[in-house]
Amino acid sequence: MTHIHLDNYTRISEETNAAKATLVAVSKTKPVEAIRALYDLGHRDFGENYVQELVDKQAQLPADIRWHFIGHLQSNKVKYIAPFVHLIHGIDSLKLLKEVNKQAEKNNRVMDVLLQVHIAKEETKFGLNEDELENILGEKGRSDLITLRHICIRGLMGMASFTSNEHVVTDEFKMLKKMYDKYATLQLPNCQFRTLSMGMSGDYQLALANSSNLIRIGSLLFGNRQ
Ligand SMILES: *Cc1c(COP(=O)(O)O)cnc(C)c1O
Repeated sequence: MTHIHLDNYTRISEETNAAKATLVAVSKTKPVEAIRALYDLGHRDFGENYVQELVDKQAQLPADIRWHFIGHLQSNKVKYIAPFVHLIHGIDSLKLLKEVNKQAEKNNRVMDVLLQVHIAKEETKFGLNEDELENILGEKGRSDLITLRHICIRGLMGMASFTSNEHVVTDEFKMLKKMYDKYATLQLPNCQFRTLSMGMSGDYQLALANSSNLIRIGSLLFGNRQ
């Protein structure tokens, strides 16, 4: 078990189960042996950030792994992951949403996605702002949304600011939860809001306390990345 922190995995699994949430193990930059070690314990949800790395790993690992793409996805690379990806967390434009729909159609499937919302103070993080989200999910976007028959928008994803200030992080999570609730009640076409993806190694407990039902944990499970 040299590849994983078993004590952390056990503890976080318990916390996640208690919150009726899903734990996605973020394995980016880590070897397939590390994924295999968690898989052998029964874990099935894994997250990756880079298309090529995900494609390489998927080919070497069991087919029943649920692969979450959590990185910044470029339109021209959707086709490589479309045959097998379980959930794409980082949709941040209508253009990308349309491309995912197109590739899903080619693969004869309906693809589950989350829209990424920019909630952090840092400019460097990706995601839609509130107005852009409204442009996709609000009245204006409705005619486009109806035509995207091969996607299912399952909810929202966000990353809080990288800070030890718990008030800042809590406010950001609450803001995302509010947007999630707003669109969840609208019953939009091709949307079945039930996933709120927020929380990482440094802030997952705050995220769970603020109604996250999917956390993405890397370093606490696999150790720090280079
Ligand atoms: C890398 C990454 C994570 C995991 O980060 P840790 O701090 O190692 O838990 C979660 N979500 C996203 C979007 C990431 O890129």
